[in-house]
Amino acid sequence: MSYLDLAKQAEARLRAARETSPGYDINDITTERLGPLAHVESYRATLREFWRLVALPAVDPEAAIATHNEVIRLIDEVGEPRATRLRDRWEGEWHRETGRCPRCGERGERHR
Ligand SMILES: [Zn+2]
Repeated sequence: MSYLDLAKQAEARLRAARETSPGYDINDITTERLGPLAHVESYRATLREFWRLVALPAVDPEAAIATHNEVIRLIDEVGEPRATRLRDRWEGEWHRETGRCPRCGERGERHR
């Protein structure tokens, strides 16, 4: 299976996961007058893409760096401390879904 096929599969899974478990609740949107929801969705999708890239057997450094830069940009859009709080929650989801640590991509323990 080619890398492109794998990426497409991952994208489809990501889309399905986003539709069924958005990972944030309405309080994040209504009780904090911070970035709009679109930024939160982009932030989540980009973080997950980054964690996916890190977990691949052969990491593509250019893709990983570009995705990480996008994560940094979106942290500014989403705003702190909200970005960190959301990331912590989504890291837990990722670990439960994949069995991999989002920080290093290894199976097993979730490092913090
Ligand atoms: Zn780790």
